[in-house]
Amino acid sequence: MSARILVVDDNPANRKLLEARLTAEYFEVVSASGGFEALEICEQGRCDIVLLDVMMPGMDGFEVCRRLKAGTRTAHLPVVMVTALDQPADRVRGLDAGADDFITKPIDEVHLIARVRSLARLKMVIDELRQRAAAAVALGMPERFDGDKLQGADRGRLLLVEDRASSAYRLQEALAPRFEVVVEANAQEAMFRAAEEAFDVVIVSLGLRDFDALRLAGHIRALERTRHLPILMIADLDDRPRVLRGLELGVNDWLSRPVDRNELLARVRTQLRLKRYAEHLRQQVEQSIELALVDPLTGLNNRRFLENQLNGLIETAKRERQPLALLVFDIDHFKKVNDTYGHDAGDDVLKAFADRLRAIVRRGDLLCRMGGEEFLILMPNVSGAVATKVAERARKAIEEVPFLVQNGAESIVVTTSIGVAERRDGVDPAEIYHRADKALYQAKSDGRNRVAVAA
Ligand SMILES: [Mg+2]
Repeated sequence: MSARILVVDDNPANRKLLEARLTAEYFEVVSASGGFEALEICEQGRCDIVLLDVMMPGMDGFEVCRRLKAGTRTAHLPVVMVTALDQPADRVRGLDAGADDFITKPIDEVHLIARVRSLARLKMVIDELRQRAAAAVALGMPERFDGDKLQGADRGRLLLVEDRASSAYRLQEALAPRFEVVVEANAQEAMFRAAEEAFDVVIVSLGLRDFDALRLAGHIRALERTRHLPILMIADLDDRPRVLRGLELGVNDWLSRPVDRNELLARVRTQLRLKRYAEHLRQQVEQSIELALVDPLTGLNNRRFLENQLNGLIETAKRERQPLALLVFDIDHFKKVNDTYGHDAGDDVLKAFADRLRAIVRRGDLLCRMGGEEFLILMPNVSGAVATKVAERARKAIEEVPFLVQNGAESIVVTTSIGVAERRDGVDPAEIYHRADKALYQAKSDGRNRVAVAA
């Protein structure tokens, strides 16, 4: 798998070295010599993963990382901090700034490539979710995420798989003040529990005595229900080859013994943060599917879409001191079309009716099918007087040309009644809809095929 890696380092020799190693593995490499340049490249979406030197003149790596994680367009980018300081305190500082991983100079090449590959995989999943969530937002779904990616990262239920009682005790003690920790000594049992119970992160000791911890990790990755469950491995220092194997299998992160308490907490928080973010994106995508903002028959937006948009558009009009008009349409005697020519003919009329209204609306107008034979046009920055003219034009466009049904075998004269209202200050946004509807009712009772304007 390839990805675009941004190498940020103030030292040209370091940049060249990393560039050569990554290019040899077929990654694309972009480089930056300082924080501001790096932020700009990330802003412009020109990279997938950031390798960030900590010690730089001007803005240091911690600050660059914090800014990346605070930006809406860059918060999802995986950041690996690179430093000469092999101090747990610095690792924790990096992870607290939002870094996804930490590697030390001199760089262990095999480890670096394994981490970059694993982050590239994660980035691909997040990218796809972001794309689908963005499509949902473009369709009018409210963006409800408050931008605080850390929210919820301080709570969680963890499954700790460890068969050495003393180690399990120490790990649990480190985690317990913040998290609910469930200890499971039996790996087989842990497989079932991971699938059946709700956990946020699984922490697995790589040194289980009677079971291959990597098999457990592989199993968790393979199951549909636990595919996205973050796995954190705890390894002995001499277990490097199996750590790399684990990362290949989809283990998200690892720590080596002796475990530093703060580093453990920071790495768990990082996994939780990523999990919450991915969950949020998935939820947004699911909501958009559930809400189905488009009417399948006419291809127009539906009532739900309008309800999502109405308040915002009225607020904008109010702020900009602009008028806003609403037209409500109802096809006259539509029931008769269905009764006389059948429901397929009724559908043909609805589709053609929608097309004629489409030909009338301007860019920026909102045309919806509200349900049944009722349609609506919301017109920002249009006065009631102008909207009334538009309504009259629409009424004529419907009446003048008969509608073809039954593959052109029949043609029917269709007419429509229209209610028009203009927004008023200081009233509930839904009020405009009620007044337009009342005007529509007036048009109907005045004999149909006409436009009535709300008082
Ligand atoms: Mg430096």
